[in-house]
Amino acid sequence: MIVLKADVCVVGGGPAGLSLACSLAEVGVRVVLLEAEDNGLNSLDQTDPDNQDDPDNQDGEPGAGLRDCRYTPLDPIDFEPRPQRPEAGWPIRRADLDPWYARAQSLCGLGRFDYRPERWSTAAAQPLPLDPALVQTQMFQVGPASVWTDLARKLAAQPNIVVLTDAQVTSLEADSTGSRVTTVHFLRSRGAHGMVGARCTVLAAGAIENSRLLLLSDQEVRGGLGNAYDLVGRYWMEHPLVRGGLLLTPRSAGLGARLRLYDRHRPEGPGWDDPNRPGSSNWAAGNLGATQVMAELSLNPERVRREGLLSTSTVLLPRDDVLASPAVQALTAWRSPSGREASLLWRARWGARMAFGLRDLLAARRVSARRPGPDEFGWARRPGAERARVFEVVHQSEQSPEAENRITLGRDLDRRGLPVPKLHWQWSEADRRRITRSRDLYALGFARARLGAVIQGDWDAGRPRLIGGDHHHLGGTRMASDPARGVVDTDVKVYGLANLFVTGSSVFPSSGSASPTLTVVALSLRLAAHLERVLTQLPL
Ligand SMILES: Cc1cc2nc3c(=O)[nH]c(=O)nc-3n(C[C@H](O)[C@H](O)[C@H](O)COP(=O)(O)OP(=O)(O)OC[C@H]3O[C@@H](n4cnc5c(N)ncnc54)[C@H](O)[C@@H]3O)c2cc1C
Repeated sequence: MIVLKADVCVVGGGPAGLSLACSLAEVGVRVVLLEAEDNGLNSLDQTDPDNQDDPDNQDGEPGAGLRDCRYTPLDPIDFEPRPQRPEAGWPIRRADLDPWYARAQSLCGLGRFDYRPERWSTAAAQPLPLDPALVQTQMFQVGPASVWTDLARKLAAQPNIVVLTDAQVTSLEADSTGSRVTTVHFLRSRGAHGMVGARCTVLAAGAIENSRLLLLSDQEVRGGLGNAYDLVGRYWMEHPLVRGGLLLTPRSAGLGARLRLYDRHRPEGPGWDDPNRPGSSNWAAGNLGATQVMAELSLNPERVRREGLLSTSTVLLPRDDVLASPAVQALTAWRSPSGREASLLWRARWGARMAFGLRDLLAARRVSARRPGPDEFGWARRPGAERARVFEVVHQSEQSPEAENRITLGRDLDRRGLPVPKLHWQWSEADRRRITRSRDLYALGFARARLGAVIQGDWDAGRPRLIGGDHHHLGGTRMASDPARGVVDTDVKVYGLANLFVTGSSVFPSSGSASPTLTVVALSLRLAAHLERVLTQLPL
């Protein structure tokens, strides 16, 4: 039996747990960090064969061969209450997170906290000239996932930090009143049992496990800790990935050569990282020269607000011309849910087009296998990219929070004999209507800028096609200013428990469409500052 004592017990060694522990270590707080996995502390740091032929990763620079991570903050509108979407919005504002975003940048290995497209454009990489009242350009910075592995190593060498891997937390034990966590129980391989007593405990185990751990901790409180209102696990969200159709551009638009800003690259050119560059005198302290960036498209926030739409981050990905051929369009229509119910006459027409375009169908099958996906970088520099005239429009969408989308405990047991988490997830009819409208607004923006027309945007009765999630797990322990509406308060403390906190994307009450990790790290840094203030009031 291992017995440990600490000021703070952190459960989970991903970006949320590591950045929290790092921040606490700097001010001398004693931390025990428990991580279930044995083989490293970083879920993002995975070898990615797709990145090997990335032109930016050929020279053995840091991050080569590793999955890189795209970072951007949530937009101010993502925090706002939205009358047409009653459960959306945060109880804090974007301005409350800004100082923490700025600090999160360096932990994530990024440049300055500045996401204005004009700050990152160069002569060779310019934003598209779209009507900003419709479509805008948003920036992402790209950092090597290896920063998290490096941080884990650094932490393990700190005298006031104990990092224990192969330590799966199985439950949190509360006192008899159920208002304070007294012990964190964990198991290691081969059945070794351990426990940690700490002034406070922070769950940083990801947006499935955070809910699961609260639900599993039901020895003193029926239904689990923090679950007085049956909210633990609810309002779970993903970032649905949606195919918004094919943008068919005229050759004269030269779009293929104008998308460099929209693929990952390192800004370069005369005077780019010169601290004396006009208008950028305060940039000298930033990591500008090394920062890699890419842009995506989003709808104008005022339009989103007015029409009650979802946030979207949209990419244009080059596709082979054959994918826009009549035969492939006919096949797509034939296979779609609404196409399967189409009249005999329509199906006969599509059948004829497919029969006449058999060669195109075979070619489409070959090229489909090697088309770049939303997570693939470097395509804008490949030979021939400048000649592309068919682009797939892919939206990474916000999902409205819904109580019925939730994590519960399943009947099956994991290798430790604990109930597995069960996910109930679907995409609502109202959100499908919203994304359909967004698709049309993007199409209008492209048409107004004479970039071409969107075809094949329909999949199911005029709607775009959902192709899955984006590995972004969100919600389950949502933040709210009222215990009847959320699991944690604005300090991410679990309602009803004096010394239990949660950090990570599970506390997001609204997801926005931005990739979540920068916000996750900002929340952890904000929590570290709060804990530093209140720790001495919490008994050991
Ligand atoms: C393939 C992929 C690509 C992604 N790309 C991006 C991207 O480009 N940009 C972006 O912003 N986000 C991206 N994400 C999402 C990103 O991974 C998450 O936002 C981020 O990892 C969240 O950090 P976290 O520390 O909260 O959770 P996690 O990284 O999930 O870390 C949680 C840790 O807790 C441990 N744990 C779980 N249960 C227990 C337990 N019971 N006891 C002890 N330890 C436990 C886990 O082993 C894990 O190490 C991507 C995700 C995937 C899978």
